[in-house]
Parts: sequence; structure tokens; C-alpha cells
Amino acid sequence: MKVVIIGGSHAGTTAARTLKKINQNIEVVLLEKREYIGSVPSNLNFLFENLLHEDTNLFKGIVLPEVLMNMGIDLRLKTEVTKINVVTKTIEVKNESKNYKLSFDRLILAMGSEKFLISEPILNASVSDLITYKMPAEILKAHRVLKNSKHITIIGSGLIGLELASSLSHHLDKKITIIEQMSRPLFRYFDTTITDVLMKYKPENIQFLFNKTLKSTQRMQKQIKVTTFGEESFLTDSAVLALNPRPNITIIPKEIYLDADNSILVNDHMQTNCPDIYAIGDLVKIPFGPEIDRAYLPLISMAHRTARIAAFHITKHNTTISKPSQRTIATKIFNLFLASCGITYEESILLGIAVTEVTKTFNYYSPIYQKTDFLLKIKIIYDTTSHVLLGAQLITTEEKLVSLINIFTQFTADKKKIENLVNNEYYYAPLLSADQNFINEIFLEAVAHAK
Ligand SMILES: Cc1cc2nc3c(=O)[nH]c(=O)nc-3n(C[C@H](O)[C@H](O)[C@H](O)COP(=O)(O)OP(=O)(O)OC[C@H]3O[C@@H](n4cnc5c(N)ncnc54)[C@H](O)[C@@H]3O)c2cc1C
Repeated sequence: MKVVIIGGSHAGTTAARTLKKINQNIEVVLLEKREYIGSVPSNLNFLFENLLHEDTNLFKGIVLPEVLMNMGIDLRLKTEVTKINVVTKTIEVKNESKNYKLSFDRLILAMGSEKFLISEPILNASVSDLITYKMPAEILKAHRVLKNSKHITIIGSGLIGLELASSLSHHLDKKITIIEQMSRPLFRYFDTTITDVLMKYKPENIQFLFNKTLKSTQRMQKQIKVTTFGEESFLTDSAVLALNPRPNITIIPKEIYLDADNSILVNDHMQTNCPDIYAIGDLVKIPFGPEIDRAYLPLISMAHRTARIAAFHITKHNTTISKPSQRTIATKIFNLFLASCGITYEESILLGIAVTEVTKTFNYYSPIYQKTDFLLKIKIIYDTTSHVLLGAQLITTEEKLVSLINIFTQFTADKKKIENLVNNEYYYAPLLSADQNFINEIFLEAVAHAK
């Protein structure tokens, strides 16, 4: 069987590796229009934190081309697919020296996301003034502009915008203004209980403009004039659009069905309406949370998950997304570690689910590991009637505690009730453990609260 994959980033490379791992005899052709694979967009932040340098590792993805080629994957870089013919099961391909056609038995679409979602009024403004970045070449360009900017404006205080602002704030000569249409940052993943803590740690050189929406930008010689609705204007040296990108559907033929938001419609095996064609990663929506059918969650973890499902199905393993995604994320902002899974309290109101929230703050770890500034705040959300866990959020000074969120994710995905989570088994070792087990403690609090 010959499987052709279009797009060699997180989804495409994972699909290729999984196919070859399961069945060495499958011919896998991986086509990538750029000269690198699997890059990490947050590398821009790491340049500003001196964790990376322009000349080292910027173009290195999380998987190396040699690894794929050694597995027997036919990796073709600088090779762009220009047309898909569903009926003849062929694609048209362009690379530096020639154009050619390739046939396939199965095709995996992994072209990801490129264009950014911006509302109509902004579309009518000078979008070219706004910096967007995802791939290494864009990161390099953005780094050079931002390095030379004293006043940087970031549009959006979601994960992308806030992580960038946090990294830039280490450069005390820079002033960062963040425009956010909501009344606080990170509203998609965290409730006020958590973001209020985060805001106490905000560096002085970051200024938030909440409840403001960008209206237009206008280049004024070396600076950009930024105007928000309400006609407030100011000059900035550079402006970054920090919003999630949208599915890249440039080469999708009309025979393949799209949803209203331009994501590709797929079934639980990641098959499109053309059964020999699969779509994965940032091209698709996946089941999410307790009530929402499918949601667009452009995250690397989803790229990996959807890629494995498509690869397993092609190799005749009947794997589907057995559990909905819990949209698990973790991040480091203003030197604090934050993580979230499942739905937030505010989201539960929109979904019409009656929930109870319980929050607990821990200021002490253990006698061996004493830190005066230790902080861990955990919040859980559960269904008031069934007591099923629906989500969790945490903020902490300790990097090692951020991975607790993976445990909450499993509990949420498994629809566990809070009463069944008070007495789980965790190791205890005085050198490695806190005095109290934080997970058992928060559920104990929840059960006491529920009575
Ligand atoms: C600034 C920023 C920061 C982010 N940070 C995080 C993070 O910290 N954690 C996280 O989980 N997610 C993060 N994301 C989201 C994450 O980058 C995406 O979810 C992920 O890259 C999706 O992987 P993908 O393989 O589906 O698509 P993409 O990474 O978009 O890759 C698609 C690939 O297809 C290639 N391609 C497109 N068209 C063609 C064609 N016609 N022919 C051949 N090749 C083609 C492209 O060159 C590209 O390599 C971030 C996104 C942005 C923009």
C-alpha cells in the first residue's frame, strides 16, 4: 500500500512514523513544501530568553529528517502539492526542478494552519503591518524586528500573546502593550481565580488594555499607529497579531467536505467523506469536553493524537478517539507555571451545565524542601448533580508540579466522580514528595464541600 502525506510538521511526521512502525511494508511518502520539518513556534520566545540563538537549532524540528529517512520514509522537502485529484487518486507536485504527478492508495492531509482569524474590520486595515509567526523563517524575521523595537504591541492575551510578552519582558528596555477584548488574560483556559493570581506577578514593563478591540493599524514612517474601537490611538514600534491560525485549505478540492469554520469534516477515524483520504492536525475539529460535539483545538498534542488515529486506521487497527479531548495545556508566564484541562467555570455557564467549583491554596511543600515563596493553587470544577469531574486548573511557583494536570486530565476524560478520587495511591518519599498529597487534598476538600 502507498500512503502519501501532505505536510511534514507535527501531524504529518507523526503519521509517517506511526505507519512505518506498525507496518514496515507500507510505502510512505511525506511531502513538505519547506526545507525543514516539525518546527516549534514558541522558539521566538526562547530567542528572547537566550535559550536559543538564531544560528543554532532554530530550524531543527522536534523530529530529525535523518530519523524519518532511516525508518524508510520517503521524505521529500521543498516539495509542494498544488492539486489533489480525488477521482484519479493522484496529486500534482512542484519542486525546485520539476513538476510531477504522484498516485496514492491512501492520502493523509496534514497541511495544518496558516492564515490567522481576524475580524472583518481588521481585515480592511493594514494587516501587513502586523507580525505573525509560526515557521522558522517567520520567527527569524519577527525576532529581528522585535529585537529593534522599544515599544511592542501584542494583539491578544491568549497563550501565544502572553508567552511572547512574558519572554520580551526580560528585556527591561522594552515596553509591551497588550490589547485584549476580554476583561482579563487567558480566558479560554483559566477562570478569574487563577488569572487574578497571575496578574499579581505582572512585570512592570507590560501594560494591558483590557476590553479593547483592535480597529486598525496604519504605518507612519518608522512607527505604526494602532487604533482600537472607541477611537483610542497610539504609536508603537511594532505590532504582533497573537491569535490562533485557521485551517489551511488552499488545495482542498470541492469533493472534500468542509465544516462552516473551514475545518475539514472527518469521522472518528479521521477519514474525510472520501474514505481513502484522511485529514489530521490543525485541519480538523475533534470531540471535546462533556457537551461540546467537536471543537477546533490547534495544539501539537492534538496533531499527534489525530495522526496516530489515522495511521492506525490505515493499518487496519480500528482505533478511534475513544475519549474526547480535555484541551490540556501547560505554560510558563511571568515565572509562574500554569496548566488547565477540561472546561472552565465560565464555560460551564455558556454550556448551561450546573457546576460547583472548589479552590485550594497550598503554601507549604515539605520540611526538606522549604521555599518561602512556594505557591500552588488548584481549582477543580465538577457537575453539581452527578459529581463527575469536568475540569481543573492550577498555578504554581514549582515547575515539577505542572505535570499534575495530566492526572486531572485522565480523571476528567474517564468521567470520575469526586468521591472516587479522595483516596488514590501515590508514592511517598520524603526527598521527592510533599507532606500532603495535593491531589487527594483537593478532592477531600471537594467532598467536604459537597456534603
Ligand atoms: C505562535 C504559535 C505558538 C504555538 N505554541 C504552541 C505550543 O506551545 N503548544 C502547542 O501544543 N501548540 C502550539 N501552537 C499550535 C501548533 O503550532 C499547531 O497546533 C501545530 O503546529 C499543528 O501541527 P500540524 O502538523 O497540524 O500543522 P502545521 O504545523 O501548520 O504544519 C503544516 C505543514 O504542512 C506544510 N504544507 C502546507 N501546505 C503544503 C502543501 N501544499 N504541500 C506541501 N506541504 C505543505 C507546511 O509547510 C507545514 O510544514 C502554536 C501556534 C502558534 C502560531
